[in-house]
Amino acid sequence: MPTCTVRDVLIPLLSVYGPAGQEQAVARHLSDLLRPHADETRTDALGNLITIRRGKPGGKRILISAHMDHIGFIAIDADKQGFVRVANAGYIFVPHSQGQHVMFGNGVRGVVYAEQDITGNPEMQHLFVDIGAQSRDEALAKVAIGDVAVYAPLVSALGEHRLAAPAMDDRAGCALGAWLLLNAPQGPNELVVLFSAQEEVGGRGAKVAAFALEPDIGLALDVTDTGDTPGVKPKMAVELGKGPAIKVRDSNLIASPLVRDALVAAAKEAGVPYQMEVLTIGGTDAGLIQLARGGVPSGALSIPTRYIHSAAETIDMRDLEQCGALLAAFAARSFD
Ligand SMILES: [Zn+2]
Repeated sequence: MPTCTVRDVLIPLLSVYGPAGQEQAVARHLSDLLRPHADETRTDALGNLITIRRGKPGGKRILISAHMDHIGFIAIDADKQGFVRVANAGYIFVPHSQGQHVMFGNGVRGVVYAEQDITGNPEMQHLFVDIGAQSRDEALAKVAIGDVAVYAPLVSALGEHRLAAPAMDDRAGCALGAWLLLNAPQGPNELVVLFSAQEEVGGRGAKVAAFALEPDIGLALDVTDTGDTPGVKPKMAVELGKGPAIKVRDSNLIASPLVRDALVAAAKEAGVPYQMEVLTIGGTDAGLIQLARGGVPSGALSIPTRYIHSAAETIDMRDLEQCGALLAAFAARSFD
């Protein structure tokens, strides 16, 4: 029986600072949590955290990846009035970022806004972060070139079942991977749960880990878009609260039928609803894992999420808990 819910694991993870390349605090949090429960816990040269639950002889090695990093704004300069100029670290929706509160790794707070004298929609080059400084020297004494700000942590409960927070992508996936290791008994397969670094800048952590770990099967745990909010385009069939999404295809992956069908079978075994997902823009670590060495059959279990890459990424906790049940059934399957 589970000793904790996925929600229990998720909530503290949502406020840990960790833009791409600076995932150390997230890795520390997760390794402290998981070391007593895992057969092996280690980090690698890119900052990936690798945790292993050994299986039985003859079982498959399943690489289950969730990324620790979240999107941010990297300081590239400050102007003479003290506004920090920024570039994106991962994909930022510029129109959504105006008026948002951000936080640098050293705790300095700021707000994002855009130049007002431009014609048309603002682009990244028009954004600045106001940290309350009144000169370039004052700004650069607080924030160094290369420091990265992330959307300030704020978790809002929306109704009874839904949570909005900036770092759902992909701390929701990290919570699932950690929950699995905390709760899964030894089964037929070796479970290698990878908390990957630098996904938001191109899946760099998963790429090297998949090469080194030589998995038989790859699975990403990540968020996916929904088609259930006003005027959303392109339309997709996934809705919040309708259960876990099983990926068919996205920008960098055509899911292996082996993995896709096993996820469907696992959903039925676990008695949870599921939705099939075709995502037209965006990808996950699974796209990198499938290309390791001679190729790895790979797929993804996705958490339906509204407003991805904004400060208000919103999930339904029933979907997340059902993802946990589906994942546990998948991990316990025999793939012979
Ligand atoms: Zn993600």
